[in-house]
Amino acid sequence: MTTIDHTSVAAGLRARGFVGRVVEPADPGYDAARVGWNGAIDRRPAAVAYATDADDVAAAIRAARAEGLSFTVRAGAHSVSGRSVRDGALCIDLRALDRVEVDPESAIVGVGGGALLGELDAATQKHGLAVPAGQISHTGVGGLTLGGGMGWLMRRHGLTIDSLLAVDVVLADGEQVRASATEHPDLFWALRGGGGDFGVVTRFEFQARRVGPLVLAGVLVYPWDRARDALRASRELMESAPDELTVFDVLLTAPPGEPFPPDLQRQRVAVIGVAWCGDHDEGERVLAPLRTSCPPALDLVGPMPYVALQSMLDATAPHGWHFYDRQHYLPDVSDAFIDALLKGFESVPTPQAHIVTSWLGGAIDRVAPGETAFGHRGAQALTWIIGCSVDDPVDPVRDWVRRVWDDTAGFATGGVYVNALDLDRPVRDAYADDVWDRLVAVKRRYDPDGAFSGNGIGFN
Ligand SMILES: Cc1cc2nc3c(=O)[nH]c(=O)nc-3n(C[C@H](O)[C@H](O)[C@H](O)COP(=O)(O)OP(=O)(O)OC[C@H]3O[C@@H](n4cnc5c(N)ncnc54)[C@H](O)[C@@H]3O)c2cc1C
Repeated sequence: MTTIDHTSVAAGLRARGFVGRVVEPADPGYDAARVGWNGAIDRRPAAVAYATDADDVAAAIRAARAEGLSFTVRAGAHSVSGRSVRDGALCIDLRALDRVEVDPESAIVGVGGGALLGELDAATQKHGLAVPAGQISHTGVGGLTLGGGMGWLMRRHGLTIDSLLAVDVVLADGEQVRASATEHPDLFWALRGGGGDFGVVTRFEFQARRVGPLVLAGVLVYPWDRARDALRASRELMESAPDELTVFDVLLTAPPGEPFPPDLQRQRVAVIGVAWCGDHDEGERVLAPLRTSCPPALDLVGPMPYVALQSMLDATAPHGWHFYDRQHYLPDVSDAFIDALLKGFESVPTPQAHIVTSWLGGAIDRVAPGETAFGHRGAQALTWIIGCSVDDPVDPVRDWVRRVWDDTAGFATGGVYVNALDLDRPVRDAYADDVWDRLVAVKRRYDPDGAFSGNGIGFN
């Protein structure tokens, strides 16, 4: 990679027709432009180029390649390991591509490559529709979708990629193509779970589902001395739960203040987060055995607007906190695993760190494993060990995450969700051999020079 003077980055971009704003190190606003969501990542890109449309993206790619400058692609900036910004590289920012177009008749939704989940939900819910996606409203549709996309609707409607119909893509040579089941099907396959290193998606086209406006959802909270019972009861429920029910079990430190009662505030608690996207009476019937067999100290489950559910957890992941996380796929959630997790959480180093176990299955498993590049259909659950602190040095948090991850590794399948890759793990770990080989073949065809290398290794 050639290092070039900052003045030549903007000049090179303009020379190839880039019209958007370019922010370079000497410019006011550079520090704001270079930071992402994770406050622990501190990188200095050669420049940030704010693309205005697909032509601008193509111009930025052509300019970077002509100058011998590597580049990254940024949408919601939520990559925990900071893949979307790299020292000395051009960051092509897509946030201006945030348009969401909804056709209420066909329920087909066009979404700009830089839109955030909250923008997608707001536009679709006006028509009683939703695209299954993630749980924090300021996550980017771009990165989340390209890795798979898990959230509150996944057991009923599948991963985000399972609702994807087509994409408009700018390739490594600047050419613009559409990929779908019938157009560039190999590229379309790779983009559904293979991550972002095949091209820049400037527009996603989704088949939305009828959801809401109210869903039955919320949290059941248990004191720490009943956490084991709660996680076991959650498992009992989920082993035969209808697909309409998606559940996330969370170990966390209850924050001070409402709605937590004083005896739970600042204490470790277990939380069962639920979302039922079907008939509410039926949902109450399905949840009744859990409430009866393991009554919570605090029951906040009831009808709520779908858009409120989609931002209910935003306060747990604000911009600027320091994050480091690791993740396991689980073939089953055993008693021994639950015990190991609880033991690990007893040494949690900060009030912000938490552990989330998401129950998978349902619609996710009704798509055949080879149909998309997403590699982990068939796992019962996914556990995400999330180390975070407001502004402390990240080391004690990182050590805790690694320790809990090591102590629970024996229960896991060994794979990793590409959207949860930490800095220490190669992207290769996210895929089984057959999927990896197909991804490499697609990479060679569409990006033979490895121009897209945001995930750290690329597929060459
Ligand atoms: C607080 C938080 C909550 C999360 N919740 C969930 C969740 O509920 N479900 C879930 O599945 N995941 C979740 N994730 C993981 C999330 O899916 C990934 O971090 C994802 O990469 C974020 O996408 P982004 O566009 O915001 O990130 P960015 O940092 O902008 O992008 C990450 C990478 O994605 C690629 N990329 C992004 N957009 C495009 C595009 N349009 N075209 C080509 N490449 C692109 C690039 O390679 C880029 O380096 C969460 C992450 C965080 C930090």
